Amino acid sequence: MIDLHCHILPGIDDGAKTIDDSMAMARVAVAEGITHILATPHYKNGRWTNEKDVVLQSVTAVQKELDNRDIPLTIFPGQEVRIVGELMEDVLENKIQFVDEDNKYLMIEFPTATIPAFTDSLFFNLQKTGVTPIIVHPERNHAILNDPTILLNLVQKGALAQLTAGSYIGSFGKKIQKLSKQLIEANLVHFIASDAHNTTTRTFYMKDAYNKLEKEFGKEKLLEYKQVTKDIVNGELIHSAEPKLIKQSKFLGLF
Ligand code: FE
Repeated sequence: MIDLHCHILPGIDDGAKTIDDSMAMARVAVAEGITHILATPHYKNGRWTNEKDVVLQSVTAVQKELDNRDIPLTIFPGQEVRIVGELMEDVLENKIQFVDEDNKYLMIEFPTATIPAFTDSLFFNLQKTGVTPIIVHPERNHAILNDPTILLNLVQKGALAQLTAGSYIGSFGKKIQKLSKQLIEANLVHFIASDAHNTTTRTFYMKDAYNKLEKEFGKEKLLEYKQVTKDIVNGELIHSAEPKLIKQSKFLGLF
């Protein structure tokens, strides 16, 4: 099992605070069946910067500690990149850590409440250079909760989207859980990741989410979602099903 969104690196954002926290998270991950984690510390979310070189150094240190403690887990470097106007410049200045070695996939986070007006043009510019943006946890963005066609438009133009395991199993409340299921049904998300920050309030829930996915959508969907995580890490092309519209009426009056 591969987890493509996790705040396991110690002391650099609101995830693990110490190396012991990182190891505790690693043990929970392994117990759930996770073999590989993409470490995705926050980049420019207003509080933390965590440029590429910082991520690489931390991943090396954490991997060494995992190996010393015989914890069977592999950590890859990544970033959860807050959408910022200067992102293309940051890519050119080598501050950005992509998901895969060929720099084809990038994890992008929107602000909690809104979708910036420059999103369309930034995604267009990224895609023009061969980069596919992966929108992290769209189900937790208030604008998308109110109007999922915002996500539909971005996915139709080629963006991918990551559903958070906790959202799907209900740890962020009923509305987000309901939307999570609808996003899966409508092919508006493409895989599940944990976005784990610790082992208590924001843990992995990957096993629970995958069990639920299999129960509600069948074995084929489960295998498809797992395959997408592999393909993304390997920089392979994703052949995703046609995204569909979610009926608007269900979302009126949420906020
Ligand atoms: Fe995150």
